[in-house]
Amino acid sequence: MRQQIAAANWKMNLSFQQAEALLDELLKKPETLKADQKVVIAVPFPYLQLAKAKLSGRKNTYVAAQNCFTKKSGAYTGEVSAEMIASMEVEYVVLGHSERREYFGESNAVLAEKTNIALEFGLTPIFCCGEPLAIREAGSQNDYVAQQLKESLFHLSADQLTKIVIAYEPIWAIGTGKTATADQAQEMHAHLRNTLASQYGQEVANSISILYGGSVKGANAADIFSRPDVDGGLVGGASLVAAEFGQIIDGLK
Ligand code: PEP
Repeated sequence: MRQQIAAANWKMNLSFQQAEALLDELLKKPETLKADQKVVIAVPFPYLQLAKAKLSGRKNTYVAAQNCFTKKSGAYTGEVSAEMIASMEVEYVVLGHSERREYFGESNAVLAEKTNIALEFGLTPIFCCGEPLAIREAGSQNDYVAQQLKESLFHLSADQLTKIVIAYEPIWAIGTGKTATADQAQEMHAHLRNTLASQYGQEVANSISILYGGSVKGANAADIFSRPDVDGGLVGGASLVAAEFGQIIDGLK
């Protein structure tokens, strides 16, 4: 069954104490999630264990890492493997965030490798895609984003693909306060679902959660999530404020 997901991406923010306080604030929210709704909190690596401990027992609430390396283990100082993340019983990993693509040179080919290793160790990748402003202004966003999916995901079997969550995050809307309109989000999400359907069939495409990311806030979440192909959001800045993220969770349909 397709899931509606409110995913937080804390990025490289918060001290350990602040992380603890934010998790405690989030836990004060009454548990209102329906069977097909989930909350996923992507925290920095050093806080994974804390988040797991705090959120254990919380209904439909999961923890994510924000990245993993392409290799299983070995002499890769400073890197963190999918196997390590899975061994902490963390369920999700964000892959291909535009900040990783831009600042760390992660290509579609590297992200195909990361997706493979995440799946190998039973993690659910939240695979990010999205176009820069120049591509949007040139009107070629549909081809650009479809290509990201093709080059990173289309080698997967249908069974593997159904284990993936996709997050469409137009780069011009991330951290800028400029949100795509609900219509723009719906248009791209429908295009992505059609792209998935052309390779894997409509049934598989219909089973994939496609999240929207880019300046989602409490005030605009419900409107964006109300669109038929928008299955929730991946939220950066607003996820650092418990009340704001709470409102975003309440915006799930
Ligand atoms: C993100 O980091 O994935 C994101 C969408 O950030 P923001 O919500 O701050 O735009």
